[in-house]
Amino acid sequence: MQDRKTLDDRAKMTELERIRHSAAHVMATAILRLWPDAQFAAGPPVENGFYYDVDLKHRISPEDFPKIEEEMKKEIKANNPFEKIVVTREQAIKDSESGRLGGLTERPGNPSKFKIGNLESIPDGEPISYYKNGDFLDLCAGPHVMRTGNIGAFKLTTVASAYYKGDERNPQLQRIYGTAFKNKTEMEAYFTMIEEAKKRDHRKIGAEMGLFAIETDLVGPGLPLWLPKGTVLVEELEKLAKETEFQAGYVRVRTPHIAKEKLYLTSGHLPILYKDSMFPPMELKESDADKISQRYYLKGMNCPHHHLIFASEPRSYRDLPLRLAEYGCCYRYEQSGELFGLMRVRSLNMNDAHIYCGIEQFAQEFNAVNDMYQKYFKLFGLGKYQMRFSTHDPSRLTGDNAKYVNEPELWKQTEDMVRQTLIDSKIPYVEVPNEAAFYGPKIDVQVWSVSGREFTLATNQVDFAVPKKFGLTYRDRDNSEKTPLCIHRAPLGTHERFIGFLIEHYAGNFPLWLAPEQVRVLTIGDDEKLVNYAKQIVNELRGHFVRAESDFSSDKINGKIQQAEMAKVHTMLVIGGRDMEAGNVSVRVHGKGNLGAKPRADVIAEILNAIKNRSA
Ligand SMILES: [Zn+2]
Ligand SMILES: [Zn+2]
Repeated sequence: MQDRKTLDDRAKMTELERIRHSAAHVMATAILRLWPDAQFAAGPPVENGFYYDVDLKHRISPEDFPKIEEEMKKEIKANNPFEKIVVTREQAIKDSESGRLGGLTERPGNPSKFKIGNLESIPDGEPISYYKNGDFLDLCAGPHVMRTGNIGAFKLTTVASAYYKGDERNPQLQRIYGTAFKNKTEMEAYFTMIEEAKKRDHRKIGAEMGLFAIETDLVGPGLPLWLPKGTVLVEELEKLAKETEFQAGYVRVRTPHIAKEKLYLTSGHLPILYKDSMFPPMELKESDADKISQRYYLKGMNCPHHHLIFASEPRSYRDLPLRLAEYGCCYRYEQSGELFGLMRVRSLNMNDAHIYCGIEQFAQEFNAVNDMYQKYFKLFGLGKYQMRFSTHDPSRLTGDNAKYVNEPELWKQTEDMVRQTLIDSKIPYVEVPNEAAFYGPKIDVQVWSVSGREFTLATNQVDFAVPKKFGLTYRDRDNSEKTPLCIHRAPLGTHERFIGFLIEHYAGNFPLWLAPEQVRVLTIGDDEKLVNYAKQIVNELRGHFVRAESDFSSDKINGKIQQAEMAKVHTMLVIGGRDMEAGNVSVRVHGKGNLGAKPRADVIAEILNAIKNRSA
């Protein structure tokens, strides 16, 4: 059963949602003009558009869209008002039985069967209303735009099938999708973005460039294999994280991929909270019996292991802040329907770290984490980003309705500090009440790729509850035992999601430092002396750990360049006889074209410099 929108939800509908929902009514109007016996069920606005479910003998296909759109245009041009009419339940039942609801006229012998069902879902006491535009009368709680003419631009997009009220025991209906916007310009921008996103689809580019493979038959769904070129991306990101974290005072740790059930019972992830997200346990049996002696789980998160590293020796205030970092591999049992390329997977390598600190160190530590985010945003050219700051609801600390650990003072302190940090750093943020984690405030980082797509990259969490569960303590200056706070942070998210994002962000045209093949040396012809000169250059580059390859074949140089461009090689060094004699190489950069001939030593120095500074 699909959730019914409450009147409260409806009141919150944005202008764009009203336009889209109104377009659904207009679409129904148009379909009825073409097929008067059509029966409509539900027609809500959805992300990026709207749909209306319809029961009709004729199978609507995209070939029908132009004529439906033609009728819709007429209705919009007529600029009919959306009139709201409040009625009694008796009246609504009468109008359903006569076939008038979701119709242009009464339709004797063809009652509005789904509207009768919809009517039954409206609780007693809630007002029942119609909306009418032109001849089309629909059972609807609204809201709508004022007139059909307020729909600035629209387009029908696809048709799918759906069960009435989402229940497979109900009849199957045709679901016609469309989208609508305030004006044509906004709609065109939307379709351009969709086209661009298709071209940049990380699954498509990943296959073309040989970055990763997902082998569902033998390895399993959601368990990507990193191919050699994709592994370059993984290792370059790890190097970046290790260098950045080293400079920020982190230390690295390594933990196993499995742990006993007891670890997750202690952390509170089991028995219930996180159970559905974890792979089922491995059950070990005593040799001579069927009795299960031990259960092990694949780790779903790194924190509990890190907490035990904190606990592995007595800690004092001098050890804090302790910043434990690990590119930890976790396993999550995502539903198979949810799996999507690298974006939603079952094995994930997380750019994880846990910072253990005293409350007086919190603001500074949190600030430093924010600085790290901004450094990464700048490096990857992410101009648009936003933090979603989720806070607690003070009324839900105690009682039956409790949702958060009962530490009112800590909630206030940490939320104030996080808020202040966000204000000071001028990072754009929105505050979302009552969405914090149960153990502390949370920040989700959203970024927009150059093509305008939004991604949630990472989550930062403040945790003042779980360290207590593990009995973590340190001895403070005054010799008292205290529980540290823990900051969970993962600025580069997981390799899977972050690389998926980067593939789309760069459309596979990675900067030099990340490019799987950084340099390809191409000879004009295959003269032996020339090839030897080119080999020396390749060897020199490889000696400096530059990922340099060669193409010394006798093929025409234009064809060789084209192949390198297709493979998205970052820098091509083209070498002919004249270059060799002058000790030069001709430089060509992917997407930028020919940059001319320069002395070999200068070119190599520039390449090394750009890689070292991650500047190109
Ligand atoms: Zn409506
Ligand atoms: Zn954590």
